[in-house]
Amino acid sequence: MTKEIIDYLSELIALPSISAFNTNRSFSIQTANKISEKLRLIGAEVKIVDNVIPGKNPIILAKLGDDPTKKTILFYSHYDVQPAAKEDGWDYDPFDLKELDGYVYGRGVSDDKGPLVATYFAVKELIDEGKLNVNVCFVYEGEEESSSGGFEDTLEMHKDFYNDIDGIMILDTSWFGEETPSMDYGFRGVTYMGIQIQGPNKDQHSGLVGGVIREPMEDLIYLMSKLKQFDGKVLINGFYDKVLPLTDEEKELYSNIEFDLEEFKKYLGRNTLLSEDTTTMLMNNWRNPTLSLHGIQGAFSEDGSKTVVPGKVIGKVSMRLVPNQDPKEIAQLFIDHITNEFNKINSPNKLDILTIGTGDWWYGDVNNFLFSAGKEAINEYWQIEPAFTRSGGSIPIIPFMEKLFDAPAMGLGIGQSTDGAHSQNERLRIKNLIGGKEVIKKILSKL
Ligand code: MN
Ligand code: MN
Repeated sequence: MTKEIIDYLSELIALPSISAFNTNRSFSIQTANKISEKLRLIGAEVKIVDNVIPGKNPIILAKLGDDPTKKTILFYSHYDVQPAAKEDGWDYDPFDLKELDGYVYGRGVSDDKGPLVATYFAVKELIDEGKLNVNVCFVYEGEEESSSGGFEDTLEMHKDFYNDIDGIMILDTSWFGEETPSMDYGFRGVTYMGIQIQGPNKDQHSGLVGGVIREPMEDLIYLMSKLKQFDGKVLINGFYDKVLPLTDEEKELYSNIEFDLEEFKKYLGRNTLLSEDTTTMLMNNWRNPTLSLHGIQGAFSEDGSKTVVPGKVIGKVSMRLVPNQDPKEIAQLFIDHITNEFNKINSPNKLDILTIGTGDWWYGDVNNFLFSAGKEAINEYWQIEPAFTRSGGSIPIIPFMEKLFDAPAMGLGIGQSTDGAHSQNERLRIKNLIGGKEVIKKILSKL
C-alpha cells in the first residue's frame, strides 16, 4: 500500500506546477487533470473551474456522497508548488521523487502534494473497507504559493457545487516540532500600508537643493520612527484595544509545545531575542499583534554614493493582527496616527497614506468536533498528546471559507518542522505521510 501512495505522490512531483511561472501553466493543468482523474476513480463528482483571474490556475472542486444524515467534511489543499531547480543547491532533481532513509525528497512532497495524497488514500481506503461514514468534499487550488490569486471570488461563484458543509479540514501545514503531531488553530491577519511623501516634482541633486528644501525622506524617516518602540510596543493609538485577553485555557495550550529556543536563536543568528522566555516569545509571535518596517520605495538603495534627494518616497509598513482586531479599522487607526504626527512637523511636503492590502486572522475553536476528533485520533495512532499550535503568518482564505460555508476549520499538520517547505531538498518523512493518512482515516471514522 505504501508503494501505491508513493507512486501517486511521485507522479504529482514529476509535474512542476509552479504557480509563480506563467511558463509552467501547462504542468499545472496536467496536475489538476491528474488529481481529478484520481478522484473520479473513487467515485467523486469532479469539476475543474476556471480561475476568475485570467491566466491563473484553475480550482478543483469535488464531492463524494450526499447523505443528509451524515456529516460533510471539506478538505482544502493546493496543487501548486514553489519554484525549484537543481542549480539552487538541491542534491537531487526536485521534480523526480527520491526515496532515501525513510524520507521522500522533491518539490512539493511536504507543501502540499504529500498532504493531498495522504487525504486521497485515507478516503480511498475507507471506501474500500466500507467504512466511509461521512460525505467528503475537496477544494484544491493552484495559486496558493502566489497569494491564492482569484481563489475567494472563484470559490464564491461555485459555492453551490457543494452541499451543506459541516467542517473544513486544512491540509497545508506541518508539525511545529519534529516528534509532536500538531493541529493548527490560528493565523494572524495582516494590514499593509504605505506612507507616501511627495516633495519636489522629481528627484533632485543634493548639491543643488541641499539646504534649500525640506527633504521628503526626512519626513518619512521621522514618521516611521513614531510607529514602534524598541521593545516591540506599537505606538498607534488604540492599536491594542480589541486584542483578546489571555484566558487560562488558552495559556494551558502553550505547555505542550515542542520548541528549542537555543536552536531557534542559532537558526536566526541572534544571541538575544526580545523575550528569552519561550512561552512569551511564542505568544508574541502567535497571539499578539506586531508592526514591521519593510522598505522605502523611491529611496536610493544601491551600492555607491549617489547624491540624490528623492522627490517622492513611500515607506512600506505591515502589521500582523490578532483576534479581535479588524484589519480595516487598524488601517484607519494607522492613518489617524500618521496624519496626527505629520501635522505636528509643519511640513510643506504632501502626505498620502495608502492601504496596500488587508487579510483576516483566523482563530479556531480548539473545543469543536474537528479538534476533538483530531486529538483522539492522534492520541490513538501516535500515542502522543498533540500540540495545539498557531502561526505568526497569515492565511486569509481560512476565515474566508469559514464564513462562506458557515462551518469551522481545523488545520492538521502532516510533515515536520524541518521539511524545508520552500527550501532546497524539501522532504517528507514517510512515517508522517502514512501517519497523516491514518490520522485522517481515524478522524473521519469518529465523526
Ligand atoms: Mn502550502
Ligand atoms: Mn508554501
